[in-house]
Amino acid sequence: IVKSRFHTWVMIMGNFEQYDTALIVEDDKAHFLHPWQEFDKFNKTGALPIAQAEGPYIYDTDGNRLLDAVGGMWCTNIGLGRVEMAEAIADQARQMAYANPMVDMTNVPGSQLAKKLAQLAPGDLNHVFFSCGGSTAIDSALRLIHFYQNVRGMTAKKHIISRQEAYHGSTYAAMSISGKQADHIPEFDYMTETVHHLSCPYFYRAPEGLSEAAFTDMLIAEFQEKITELGGADKVAAFFAEPIMGSGGVIVPPENYLKRMWEVCQENDILFVADEVVTAFGRLGHWFASEAVFNVQPDIITTAKGLTSGYQPLGATIFSERIWQVISAPGNGRYFAHGFTYTGHPVACRAALKNIEIIEREGILEHVREVGPYFLQQLKTLEQLPIVGEVRGNHFMVCIENVASKGTRLLFPDDVNIGQRITDECASRGVLIRPIGHLNVLSPSLVLTVDEIDRIVATLRDGISAVMVALQAQSLWTE
Ligand code: PLP
Repeated sequence: IVKSRFHTWVMIMGNFEQYDTALIVEDDKAHFLHPWQEFDKFNKTGALPIAQAEGPYIYDTDGNRLLDAVGGMWCTNIGLGRVEMAEAIADQARQMAYANPMVDMTNVPGSQLAKKLAQLAPGDLNHVFFSCGGSTAIDSALRLIHFYQNVRGMTAKKHIISRQEAYHGSTYAAMSISGKQADHIPEFDYMTETVHHLSCPYFYRAPEGLSEAAFTDMLIAEFQEKITELGGADKVAAFFAEPIMGSGGVIVPPENYLKRMWEVCQENDILFVADEVVTAFGRLGHWFASEAVFNVQPDIITTAKGLTSGYQPLGATIFSERIWQVISAPGNGRYFAHGFTYTGHPVACRAALKNIEIIEREGILEHVREVGPYFLQQLKTLEQLPIVGEVRGNHFMVCIENVASKGTRLLFPDDVNIGQRITDECASRGVLIRPIGHLNVLSPSLVLTVDEIDRIVATLRDGISAVMVALQAQSLWTE
């Protein structure tokens, strides 16, 4: 039994003999196609099988414990292994594991969760469409946007504007709206005629000599020009934006950028979609970040991940009263031909309700607001190291940008694999950090203690230092 300020974890330990790790890895290699699988590498190394978890820690099938600073995949917000969560899920599965959500049937957790999200979401975002994750929440937002614009007679409003390096998911539509260069590979196809990408608000790599204010002005002007280029406001349906871009490199936008982009949307009758799949449910210290952190009132918020803290798959598309009034206008015989077998799944919704109850009861948002600034401040000290170009982020969402030269911000060649090297060094010291190209990203559980924060920072310092020594020994880098 592990006690912390927040909770009592039950450790299901000591049964790792049951696993035959080599066999699991072989079976996995033979049959499980993983997201973003790199075939050549995977065929040699296979995947690391994770067997157990408690709080912010995970265990592989050999019983090795890692402090998971990745938070699963930006999602294990309240920490794993909570008995209370397991019981709520089991109880719902026993009582009613599934209910048909179609047309005129509902279920109790689904209906209660929709009400709760309407209360927590900013402004008049009072209506919720449930799906199975973040990508389907984005797809549902897009379909809702089409429906809304067509119903109001704005049938030429078809263009969607997004940003380079945005990540909105991996269905066909969500990946097309995403703008990560590394993900738009020639082997896949994408929607291109109606989706457009603006520059990324990435000040660290802004043109030399430009002030932050001038850079922001440039980005706003680019948005306005894009609207004109596409034939004017009557042709543009929506703008999609993560408040802080996540897997694009934790791009914290310049001061007022998001607010000004939102104002351009308002002026041009363009719907503003805040993709809060990562930033909601406490990661930035609030239920949702759009209004609380960036002073923006979106028309639609998409969310998933921290909504259930990863205990169940669930996505939500939360939208405004204005959209609802248009799509549901009485007397026209319309119906919303969109939805999934698992829309409003009772077990997933019950898990979300329990997750929200725990966040409220344990003051997890307050905890993030209390220790989040310390986390970032401590990580910022890594900028003293010669290959750390920038540490940026907000509360429990942070990125370390590694460079070969700080002065020129020059990157290491791809084959140096700098992010992966640092991740490997940290993993050998018991801390899991995510590599994304030349970056290392952190999005841990929100229940981290100050001691755990200190351990992550110290491990990164040691890990990065060890990598520098190795690079020097291999003549790949000199200070
Ligand atoms: N939107 C954002 C901002 C994300 O970070 C992700 C996933 O990382 C998604 C959407 C897609 O969510 P999912 O993987 O649950 O489909």
